[in-house]
Parts: sequence; C-alpha cells; structure tokens
Amino acid sequence: MLKIILAIVVSIILVLLILKDKKKGIINYVFINQKTKKYHQKKCPYAKNLKSISFEAAIKEDYTPCKICNEEKN
Ligand SMILES: [Zn+2]
Repeated sequence: MLKIILAIVVSIILVLLILKDKKKGIINYVFINQKTKKYHQKKCPYAKNLKSISFEAAIKEDYTPCKICNEEKN
C-alpha cells in the first residue's frame, strides 16, 4: 500500500516538474543590442548575432523595441 502511495506522489511531482518546464518554454525571449539599447523579436532582421535574454529582463534593463519590432507589436 505504501509503495502505491509513494508511486502516486512521485508521479504527481514528475507531472508538476514537466508543467513547470512547459511554463518556462512560454517565456518570450528577445534579442538585445547593448550598443543601441534596443531589443528585437526573433523574426526581426536586426536580431541576428545578438544576445538573447527574456523579455522581462530586457524591459527591466530599459531596453526599448526597435522601429520594426514596435510596428509589428501594434
Ligand atoms: Zn527589431
């Protein structure tokens, strides 16, 4: 009986961990240009060869969207 309970608990924990990982995947990543202080969406032509960070981190560090990315957003 105890083994069954343990098995159930372990599977619940595993499911929770998988869900947590899926949430991580939803995080929006942007590409930042540290010289211009602009960030770019993945599909932006200026995003090439730039460092990627989370959108939230970019906002916190005062990055603003480039012209193209800003237009696509609206
Ligand atoms: Zn851009």
